[in-house]
Amino acid sequence: MSKTIKTTCPYCGVGCGVLATLKDGQVSVKGDPDHPANKGRLCSKGSALAETLALDGRLLKPVVHSAETTWDNALDEVATRFKQTIAKHGPDSIALYVSGQLLTEDYYVANKLMKGFMGTANIDTNSRLCMASSVAGHKRAFGADTVPGNYEDLEQADLLVLVGSNLAWCHPVLYQRVAAAKAARPNMRIINIDPRHTATSDLADLHLAVAPGSDVALFNHLLCAIHEQGAVDSAYVAAHVNGFDAALEAASSGDVSVTGLPRADIDAFTRAWVGTEKVVTIYSQGVNQSTAGADKVNAILNCHLATGRIGRAGMGPFSVTGQPNAMGGREVGGLANMLACHMDLENAGHRATVREFWQAPQMPDAAGLKAVDMFRAVGDGRIKALWVMCTNPVVSLPEADRVKEAIEGCDFVVVSDMYGDTDTAKLADVLLPATGWGEKTGTVTNSERCISRQRSFLPAPGEARHDWDVLADVGRRMGWQAAFDYETPAEVLREYAALSGLAAGHGRDFDISALSDLSNEDYDDFTPQHWPISADRNGGRFFADGQFYTPSGKANMLPLHHRSPANAPTAAHPFVLNTGRIRDQWHTMSRSGLAPRLSQHMGEPYVEIHPRDAEDLGLKAADLAEVTSPHGRAVLRVLISDKMRRGEVFAPMHWTGTHASDGRIDALVAAEVDPVSGQPESKASPVKITKLQAA
Ligand code: SF4
Repeated sequence: MSKTIKTTCPYCGVGCGVLATLKDGQVSVKGDPDHPANKGRLCSKGSALAETLALDGRLLKPVVHSAETTWDNALDEVATRFKQTIAKHGPDSIALYVSGQLLTEDYYVANKLMKGFMGTANIDTNSRLCMASSVAGHKRAFGADTVPGNYEDLEQADLLVLVGSNLAWCHPVLYQRVAAAKAARPNMRIINIDPRHTATSDLADLHLAVAPGSDVALFNHLLCAIHEQGAVDSAYVAAHVNGFDAALEAASSGDVSVTGLPRADIDAFTRAWVGTEKVVTIYSQGVNQSTAGADKVNAILNCHLATGRIGRAGMGPFSVTGQPNAMGGREVGGLANMLACHMDLENAGHRATVREFWQAPQMPDAAGLKAVDMFRAVGDGRIKALWVMCTNPVVSLPEADRVKEAIEGCDFVVVSDMYGDTDTAKLADVLLPATGWGEKTGTVTNSERCISRQRSFLPAPGEARHDWDVLADVGRRMGWQAAFDYETPAEVLREYAALSGLAAGHGRDFDISALSDLSNEDYDDFTPQHWPISADRNGGRFFADGQFYTPSGKANMLPLHHRSPANAPTAAHPFVLNTGRIRDQWHTMSRSGLAPRLSQHMGEPYVEIHPRDAEDLGLKAADLAEVTSPHGRAVLRVLISDKMRRGEVFAPMHWTGTHASDGRIDALVAAEVDPVSGQPESKASPVKITKLQAA
């Protein structure tokens, strides 16, 4: 007897459909040919999912102060301590740090509990490290956080520009779709803008190895070229765009030489962009993870708005999200400065709508602490009770050593996780066992706004419970029975869909109100759908009609100026460290590290360095190097490669401090953030590199 379940991959924001087959107690997976994101494809990580389902290391029972206990005891402890902390120190003395791995239903209940009932906006997500600058850029330009296009646009474009995106490793199935489109359409051109020569650069017709942090200068220069070469769509700008003159004036004062690019390459780029109507500009962490991240996003959007190349087939800006449900988290207000359904916490009308809908006793009227500031507040004692759900900030936040110290010093720490031995879980007062992929059930939204189901096909191990259920239980124990009286995730989705219909009344674009009367059976059978999903609209592109979500209905072009990364290299720390993902691992490897074949690609943490820099430092391939910054230290295997610019090194972000060589890269990264988005600068940290001497 075998049974096949349709579900969605839990790794990246491509959001591939997966067929999981259970036969004789064994699970196998393959790509779902009917899913619009992948049409049957899977990458190496997705293909190895079945190998990550072993129960080794799983947390099976709640733990309070190192002793196993019952759920009743554990959740009473959580509810009591949070209640006492709020009573004594006020609602802003507590915080919840969540994850783009959570399902939309988990995220919705978490936001409702914190913002509507506990009375604080101190809920933020590890997606802050991933795409917050894109959210900020969209809101500034469009008036709401909206991805205009879809994956098909990438295949239909005549010119695809990838900025700070190693699609080949970080969004592999989307890359496969692009590669197939390019093979089928030889005239399609690809330009890759990235300080490193990556696997994605191999597919490109032109690779621009820009200096780190110089994207605003490059796209400002492009805006000037668009103007000088007569490519501004004046009718479109007059009808649909504010701020063109100021944006052009600011761009004209810039100096493209800071990009460090040969003039011929810059000219080839601007010629191609200006001369191609169907152009898609994809951007990812190389743009977002910067102290100028929001400006970089808006510099890209400026060029699309000036030419009217947005909202039509095969053209537009496109932000690819890192995590499987970063988009779903955005939709339900999973960031400290947002409410559900793309409504704004700081808008009194939006607040009133949500408060009335939730029948919430209280609601903050200002943004809460964003991820980096949240852990600063944990460190200086402003946050006295912290709940971390489905993420591992001791490894993944900048200045990770300081984050570890902060959590160690916090009065009360709750961690909900599948595993009890993560670097963060080890610091918890209360550990709550969570269900994971294959056990959970709910919805996720991918980078192109496609909502898909994750479905369970395995029983919850031990006493593990779903995150939405645990959050709702804590809400009930704190006295809000009616508001958190959910029995199924379908109920949560229906409530959230109904709220989205009210948000539409505020002119917000997120509307899935057609799902508000979805039956439990329809929820079970739900097939992937792109939002919006309402009575009069189903999916499609945004902004085709030139209408935006600003008060004037016009999009905003912004005046922008190049700003260098926050910290420049110094004599003591002369190299620039760029961090990122590798092809076959995911985040801090708690799941992908369980599949032996995924470790065959890159088996240990490494630092990639230019051959001449390695020679100057006396480093040979496979030596161990000590990499230090003012904030921490890592020990990494040396990989010598001419794909790096001189003076710059790359190290993957996945490894934890428990590996033989200490690869906790975020211990080296300074907690410098973009002033608009709060996203940390993970791609430009000054470091020193020395050969590790034998003890
Ligand atoms: Fe999963 Fe992303 Fe690979 Fe698709 S591309 S199988 S979503 S990791």
